[in-house]
Amino acid sequence: MQKNIVPQHAWIFDVDGVITHPSKKIITEFEVLNYIIKKLEKGKPVVLNTGRSLEWIMDRVINLLLKKTKNKEIFNRFFVVGEMGGVWLTFDKNGKIQKHVDRSLQFPKSLMKRVIQLVKAKYSKSMFFDDTKQTMFSIEMNEELPIDKYKKEQKVLVNDLSKIIKASDLNKNLRIDTTTIAADIMNKHVGKGFAVIRIIDWLKENELKPHKVFAFGDSKSDLPMAEKLHELGFSVEFVFVGDKTHLGNTKYPFSIFFTKAQYEKGALEFLRKTN
Ligand SMILES: [Mg+2]
Repeated sequence: MQKNIVPQHAWIFDVDGVITHPSKKIITEFEVLNYIIKKLEKGKPVVLNTGRSLEWIMDRVINLLLKKTKNKEIFNRFFVVGEMGGVWLTFDKNGKIQKHVDRSLQFPKSLMKRVIQLVKAKYSKSMFFDDTKQTMFSIEMNEELPIDKYKKEQKVLVNDLSKIIKASDLNKNLRIDTTTIAADIMNKHVGKGFAVIRIIDWLKENELKPHKVFAFGDSKSDLPMAEKLHELGFSVEFVFVGDKTHLGNTKYPFSIFFTKAQYEKGALEFLRKTN
Protein backbone atom coordinates (compact mmCIF):
# COMPACT_ATOMS: atom_id res chain seq x y z
CA MET A 1 0.00 0.00 0.00
CA GLN A 2 2.71 2.43 1.00
CA LYS A 3 4.79 1.74 -2.11
CA ASN A 4 2.66 4.12 -4.14
CA ILE A 5 3.11 7.01 -1.76
CA VAL A 6 5.84 9.47 -2.73
CA PRO A 7 7.03 11.24 0.39
CA GLN A 8 7.36 14.98 -0.11
CA HIS A 9 8.96 15.87 3.22
CA ALA A 10 11.12 14.16 5.80
CA TRP A 11 11.06 15.12 9.48
CA ILE A 12 14.06 14.91 11.81
CA PHE A 13 13.72 15.66 15.51
CA ASP A 14 16.26 16.09 18.26
CA VAL A 15 14.69 14.58 21.41
CA ASP A 16 15.69 16.42 24.62
CA GLY A 17 14.01 19.82 24.62
CA VAL A 18 12.16 19.11 21.34
CA ILE A 19 10.06 16.00 21.98
CA THR A 20 10.64 15.84 25.74
CA HIS A 21 10.64 18.62 28.35
CA PRO A 22 14.22 19.96 28.72
CA SER A 23 14.51 19.51 32.50
CA LYS A 24 11.73 17.03 33.33
CA LYS A 25 13.13 14.77 30.59
CA ILE A 26 9.72 13.29 29.81
CA ILE A 27 7.02 14.02 27.24
CA THR A 28 4.61 16.70 28.39
CA GLU A 29 3.02 17.57 24.99
CA PHE A 30 1.50 14.29 23.85
CA GLU A 31 -0.01 15.94 20.78
CA VAL A 32 3.50 15.91 19.26
CA LEU A 33 3.24 12.10 19.17
CA ASN A 34 -0.10 12.31 17.33
CA TYR A 35 1.55 14.41 14.62
CA ILE A 36 4.38 11.89 14.30
CA ILE A 37 1.87 9.06 13.89
CA LYS A 38 -0.09 11.06 11.28
CA LYS A 39 3.06 11.67 9.25
CA LEU A 40 4.01 7.99 9.37
CA GLU A 41 0.49 7.03 8.29
CA LYS A 42 0.93 9.26 5.25
CA GLY A 43 4.21 7.47 4.45
CA LYS A 44 6.45 10.38 5.42
CA PRO A 45 9.85 9.53 6.89
CA VAL A 46 10.22 10.54 10.56
CA VAL A 47 13.59 10.37 12.30
CA LEU A 48 14.79 10.95 15.86
CA ASN A 49 18.41 12.13 16.15
CA THR A 50 19.78 12.28 19.70
CA GLY A 51 22.73 11.62 21.98
CA ARG A 52 20.54 9.41 24.20
CA SER A 53 20.86 5.62 24.43
CA LEU A 54 18.35 3.41 22.60
CA GLU A 55 17.14 2.14 25.98
CA TRP A 56 16.32 5.68 27.12
CA ILE A 57 14.56 6.54 23.82
CA MET A 58 12.53 3.30 23.94
CA ASP A 59 11.42 4.04 27.48
CA ARG A 60 10.62 7.76 27.09
CA VAL A 61 9.41 8.03 23.49
CA ILE A 62 9.08 4.90 21.32
CA ASN A 63 6.95 2.84 23.73
CA LEU A 64 4.50 5.74 23.97
CA LEU A 65 4.38 6.08 20.19
CA LEU A 66 3.72 2.34 19.78
CA LYS A 67 0.74 2.59 22.12
CA LYS A 68 -0.85 5.17 19.81
CA THR A 69 -1.55 2.78 16.93
CA LYS A 70 -2.27 -0.85 16.13
CA ASN A 71 -0.83 -0.48 12.64
CA LYS A 72 2.85 -1.30 13.20
CA GLU A 73 3.48 -1.32 9.44
CA ILE A 74 3.72 2.48 9.43
CA PHE A 75 6.95 2.27 11.44
CA ASN A 76 8.89 1.12 8.40
CA ARG A 77 9.26 4.86 7.71
CA PHE A 78 10.54 5.54 11.26
CA PHE A 79 14.26 5.69 12.03
CA VAL A 80 16.00 6.41 15.32
CA VAL A 81 19.64 7.38 15.75
CA GLY A 82 21.07 7.52 19.27
CA GLU A 83 24.44 8.24 20.85
CA MET A 84 25.21 10.86 18.17
CA GLY A 85 25.27 8.22 15.45
CA GLY A 86 26.82 5.33 17.39
CA VAL A 87 23.60 3.29 17.63
CA TRP A 88 20.42 3.15 15.58
CA LEU A 89 17.06 1.42 15.50
CA THR A 90 14.78 0.34 12.69
CA PHE A 91 11.52 -1.59 12.35
CA ASP A 92 11.28 -4.54 9.97
CA LYS A 93 8.25 -5.27 7.73
CA ASN A 94 6.47 -7.04 10.60
CA GLY A 95 6.94 -4.12 12.96
CA LYS A 96 9.72 -5.90 14.84
CA ILE A 97 12.44 -3.69 16.32
CA GLN A 98 16.02 -4.10 15.10
CA LYS A 99 18.82 -2.49 17.10
CA HIS A 100 22.24 -1.70 15.63
CA VAL A 101 25.60 -0.69 17.12
CA ASP A 102 28.70 0.68 15.40
CA ARG A 103 31.19 -1.52 17.25
CA SER A 104 34.16 0.42 15.88
CA LEU A 105 33.15 3.25 18.24
CA GLN A 106 33.13 1.17 21.42
CA PHE A 107 35.64 2.01 24.15
CA PRO A 108 37.97 -0.38 25.97
CA LYS A 109 36.46 -1.77 29.19
CA SER A 110 39.49 -0.55 31.18
CA LEU A 111 38.67 3.06 30.28
CA MET A 112 35.04 2.58 31.28
CA LYS A 113 36.11 1.15 34.65
CA ARG A 114 38.32 4.15 35.35
CA VAL A 115 35.54 6.63 34.54
CA ILE A 116 32.97 4.76 36.64
CA GLN A 117 35.40 4.59 39.57
CA LEU A 118 36.07 8.32 39.34
CA VAL A 119 32.36 9.23 39.27
CA LYS A 120 31.58 6.93 42.19
CA ALA A 121 34.48 8.08 44.33
CA LYS A 122 34.30 11.82 43.75
CA TYR A 123 31.02 12.90 42.14
CA SER A 124 28.29 10.55 43.32
CA LYS A 125 26.45 13.31 45.19
CA SER A 126 26.02 15.41 42.06
CA MET A 127 26.20 13.05 39.05
CA PHE A 128 25.73 9.52 37.78
CA PHE A 129 27.30 7.41 35.03
CA ASP A 130 24.77 6.48 32.33
CA ASP A 131 25.37 2.75 31.92
CA THR A 132 22.86 2.33 29.07
CA LYS A 133 25.16 3.82 26.40
CA GLN A 134 27.26 1.53 24.22
CA THR A 135 29.50 3.83 22.17
CA MET A 136 29.98 6.91 24.37
CA PHE A 137 30.19 7.83 28.05
CA SER A 138 27.77 10.27 29.64
CA ILE A 139 28.04 11.52 33.16
CA GLU A 140 24.73 13.17 33.92
CA MET A 141 23.64 15.61 36.63
CA ASN A 142 21.54 14.19 39.48
CA GLU A 143 18.01 15.47 39.10
CA GLU A 144 17.64 17.59 42.23
CA LEU A 145 20.94 19.44 41.88
CA PRO A 146 20.88 23.22 41.22
CA ILE A 147 22.40 24.00 37.79
CA ASP A 148 24.98 26.53 39.14
CA LYS A 149 26.34 24.02 41.58
CA TYR A 150 26.53 21.42 38.82
CA LYS A 151 28.36 23.81 36.44
CA LYS A 152 31.16 24.27 38.98
CA GLU A 153 31.55 20.54 39.57
CA GLN A 154 31.34 19.85 35.84
CA LYS A 155 34.51 21.92 35.26
CA VAL A 156 36.44 19.86 37.79
CA LEU A 157 35.05 16.65 36.31
CA VAL A 158 36.10 17.61 32.77
CA ASN A 159 39.61 18.23 34.04
CA ASP A 160 39.69 14.78 35.68
CA LEU A 161 38.29 13.13 32.55
CA SER A 162 40.90 14.74 30.28
CA LYS A 163 43.65 13.34 32.51
CA ILE A 164 42.17 9.84 32.26
CA ILE A 165 41.88 10.08 28.47
CA LYS A 166 45.43 11.35 28.07
CA ALA A 167 46.78 8.53 30.21
CA SER A 168 44.91 5.98 28.06
CA ASP A 169 46.53 6.94 24.71
CA LEU A 170 43.11 7.53 23.18
CA ASN A 171 43.55 11.27 23.21
CA LYS A 172 43.63 11.49 19.41
CA ASN A 173 40.33 9.65 18.97
CA LEU A 174 38.19 11.08 21.74
CA ARG A 175 36.69 14.39 22.73
CA ILE A 176 34.82 15.68 25.76
CA ASP A 177 31.61 17.62 25.22
CA THR A 178 29.53 19.37 27.85
CA THR A 179 25.83 20.20 27.86
CA THR A 180 23.64 21.90 30.48
CA ILE A 181 23.12 18.63 32.32
CA ALA A 182 25.96 16.30 31.30
CA ALA A 183 29.56 15.75 30.29
CA ASP A 184 30.13 13.28 27.46
CA ILE A 185 33.17 11.43 26.19
CA MET A 186 32.79 10.40 22.59
CA ASN A 187 34.65 9.54 19.43
CA LYS A 188 35.81 12.67 17.59
CA HIS A 189 33.80 11.77 14.48
CA VAL A 190 30.38 11.36 16.05
CA GLY A 191 27.82 14.13 16.45
CA LYS A 192 24.53 15.33 15.01
CA GLY A 193 26.13 15.79 11.56
CA PHE A 194 27.69 12.30 11.61
CA ALA A 195 24.25 10.90 12.52
CA VAL A 196 22.82 12.58 9.41
CA ILE A 197 25.00 10.35 7.22
CA ARG A 198 23.31 7.30 8.82
CA ILE A 199 19.94 8.92 8.19
CA ILE A 200 20.73 9.54 4.52
CA ASP A 201 21.94 5.93 4.12
CA TRP A 202 18.65 4.73 5.58
CA LEU A 203 16.65 7.00 3.24
CA LYS A 204 18.58 5.60 0.26
CA GLU A 205 18.14 1.98 1.35
CA ASN A 206 14.40 2.59 1.52
CA GLU A 207 14.33 4.48 -1.78
CA LEU A 208 13.05 7.60 -0.06
CA LYS A 209 13.88 10.89 -1.75
CA PRO A 210 12.38 13.76 0.24
CA HIS A 211 12.47 17.04 -1.63
CA LYS A 212 12.56 18.92 1.66
CA VAL A 213 13.75 18.04 5.16
CA PHE A 214 12.61 19.74 8.35
CA ALA A 215 15.20 19.40 11.15
CA PHE A 216 14.18 20.39 14.68
CA GLY A 217 16.61 21.37 17.41
CA ASP A 218 16.81 23.35 20.65
CA SER A 219 20.54 23.97 20.91
CA LYS A 220 23.49 25.07 18.84
CA SER A 221 24.81 21.52 18.76
CA ASP A 222 21.77 20.59 16.59
CA LEU A 223 22.86 22.90 13.76
CA PRO A 224 25.31 20.38 12.21
CA MET A 225 22.21 18.32 11.24
CA ALA A 226 21.01 21.08 8.95
CA GLU A 227 24.56 21.96 7.85
CA LYS A 228 25.30 18.38 6.78
CA LEU A 229 21.96 17.99 4.96
CA HIS A 230 22.54 21.26 3.13
CA GLU A 231 26.13 20.30 2.28
CA LEU A 232 24.87 17.04 0.77
CA GLY A 233 22.39 18.82 -1.46
CA PHE A 234 19.15 18.48 0.50
CA SER A 235 16.71 21.35 0.78
CA VAL A 236 16.50 21.85 4.52
CA GLU A 237 14.63 24.07 6.94
CA PHE A 238 16.01 24.18 10.48
CA VAL A 239 13.26 24.67 13.06
CA PHE A 240 14.81 26.19 16.17
CA VAL A 241 12.76 25.82 19.37
CA GLY A 242 15.44 26.86 21.88
CA ASP A 243 16.65 30.24 23.16
CA LYS A 244 17.26 32.45 20.10
CA THR A 245 20.26 34.21 21.62
CA HIS A 246 22.19 30.90 21.68
CA LEU A 247 22.51 30.91 17.89
CA GLY A 248 24.14 34.37 17.77
CA ASN A 249 24.27 36.40 14.55
CA THR A 250 25.92 33.83 12.30
CA LYS A 251 24.37 33.60 8.83
CA TYR A 252 23.58 30.09 7.61
CA PRO A 253 23.05 28.99 4.00
CA PHE A 254 19.67 27.36 4.79
CA SER A 255 16.48 28.78 6.24
CA ILE A 256 15.93 28.81 10.00
CA PHE A 257 12.46 29.11 11.49
CA PHE A 258 12.24 30.40 15.07
CA THR A 259 9.11 29.29 16.89
CA LYS A 260 7.39 31.67 19.33
CA ALA A 261 6.96 29.02 22.01
CA GLN A 262 10.02 27.14 23.19
CA TYR A 263 11.07 23.50 23.47
CA GLU A 264 8.27 20.86 23.07
CA LYS A 265 5.71 23.65 22.92
CA GLY A 266 7.67 25.21 20.05
CA ALA A 267 7.78 21.87 18.21
CA LEU A 268 4.03 21.52 18.66
CA GLU A 269 3.45 25.08 17.42
CA PHE A 270 5.31 24.31 14.18
CA LEU A 271 3.63 20.93 13.67
CA ARG A 272 0.17 22.47 14.09
CA LYS A 273 1.03 25.16 11.58
CA THR A 274 2.37 22.84 8.90
CA ASN A 275 0.11 19.83 9.17
MG1 LIG B 1 18.15 18.99 22.68
